[in-house]
Amino acid sequence: METKYIFVTGGVVSSLGKGIISASIGKLLQARGYKVTIQKFDPYINIDPGTLNPYEHGECYVTADGMETDLDLGHYERFTDIKTTRHNSITTGRIYQAVIDKERRGDYLGKTIQVVPHITDEIKRCIKENATLEHFDFVISEIGGTIGDIESAPFMEAIRQLRWEMGRNAVNIHLTYVPYLHAAGEFKTKPTQHSVKELQSMGIQPDILILRTEHHLEKGILHKVASFCNVEPESVVQSEDMLSIYEVPVNMLHQGLDIAILRKLGISVEEAPIMMNAWYDFLDKQLKATREVHIGLVGKYDLQDAYKSIRESLTLAGIYNGLKVRIHFINSEDITCQNVGVKLGSMAGIIICPGFGQRGIEGKIIAAEYLRTNDIPTFGICLGMQMMAIEFARNVLGYQDANSREMDIQTPHNVIDIMENQKSITQMGGTMRLGTYECKLVQGSHAYEAYGKVILIKERHRHRYEFNNQYFDEYEAKGMKCVGINPAANLVEIVEIPDKRWYIGTQFHPEYRSTVLHPHPLFMSFIRECAQG
Ligand code: GLN
Repeated sequence: METKYIFVTGGVVSSLGKGIISASIGKLLQARGYKVTIQKFDPYINIDPGTLNPYEHGECYVTADGMETDLDLGHYERFTDIKTTRHNSITTGRIYQAVIDKERRGDYLGKTIQVVPHITDEIKRCIKENATLEHFDFVISEIGGTIGDIESAPFMEAIRQLRWEMGRNAVNIHLTYVPYLHAAGEFKTKPTQHSVKELQSMGIQPDILILRTEHHLEKGILHKVASFCNVEPESVVQSEDMLSIYEVPVNMLHQGLDIAILRKLGISVEEAPIMMNAWYDFLDKQLKATREVHIGLVGKYDLQDAYKSIRESLTLAGIYNGLKVRIHFINSEDITCQNVGVKLGSMAGIIICPGFGQRGIEGKIIAAEYLRTNDIPTFGICLGMQMMAIEFARNVLGYQDANSREMDIQTPHNVIDIMENQKSITQMGGTMRLGTYECKLVQGSHAYEAYGKVILIKERHRHRYEFNNQYFDEYEAKGMKCVGINPAANLVEIVEIPDKRWYIGTQFHPEYRSTVLHPHPLFMSFIRECAQG
């Protein structure tokens, strides 16, 4: 089948869940046997979100090929199990960089470089690129931001042109918001009408409208929106709040969103069975997972989205273990030797979160000591693993001043050190050790058992600092074992204390590989142990 393109835009307000809708569309098309990919365009000027503070942008998601991307790619992967790449996350910064590089090379042969056509052409090239590298039946392109933003205008122009050029091979989906005004006791469709008008003023006629709403909308409202916005009634669906984001694909399916898309693209909708059994099984498990388990996240970003993939990985692993995971954020900046027991003592298990820089690390180290000495299941991820190693060096190896070079450049006991090939790096963007690397597990270790006794695993990374192998033997002798090693560079990727119930730190980020249908084995094993407490 010739590749079809689906453009997803958003109106009225941000945070409507365009990423979840895009992922849900991907899921439904995939369930009909189509090969799908989903990409995100972010209208900001950063080249990628790698240098952004999580408070600005939430978590930075890392693809297998080492691109630092928007957290929506996490939704795409979790919903569809596809492996995204650097071609699935593109910012205005990257578009301009590509155009300026071409200009400097002289590729434009003396032309004046303009937003239209040069920037829009580059956007169009990026939209079409995925399908030139590999065949896809559908390419879903989600445009970040809200209609009317100055910075998203070139993207709108690009999809306008593509829809016009591609005709029936492209479809525009617009996600808007229908608020309920309590004082008036009514739903209001005016913001949606304005949003669609704004789109139309840019030459874009939405083919399908998805109305986000907190409460169920009666048919009359959908019809009203359809007639005001020049959209067929069967092409207006609603996305009301669900108990879990994983119910959204099924809600869209029940309203025929996939059929509306296929019809618009001129694809015949036979009785093609939609293979959603595994997804339904998962939803069934979710419904039955009622026993609560309380997990603490020790980190410094008091923002839901900052640890998105970790939260989702915990929730998913919980569901597969028949448990409802209750996540409690514990700010590491507030943890002291005096209050650590009160703050952490009632948790069934703790995640020591990833991060950068000095702020909040002493709290993570105090937490690690408390968790180790009280034998509470503990999972340290990246910086979290490094803090577990520093705590062990300070309190077991006897190096009171042990630290990471990241935090203390002078430290005499640099148990966490900068990686050799990072020393000469001066550019901060996109230069960490990023993406998938192999790791060889030590047979018989907890980690090896958790992975189902496989020797060689592959996980994604995002760091500059590493376990210092000069201390390897001391750690091993005193009981913290290095049980996962990268064979090519001899880097320590996993440490654990085998005498403890579950005390494992990973230099990599397993959370990026957890999906709805394939929860991550380490999270599965961690939650299983937490539930024993
Ligand atoms: N700041 C640490 C490093 O660069 C850990 C990074 C992380 O947690 N992702 O090595």
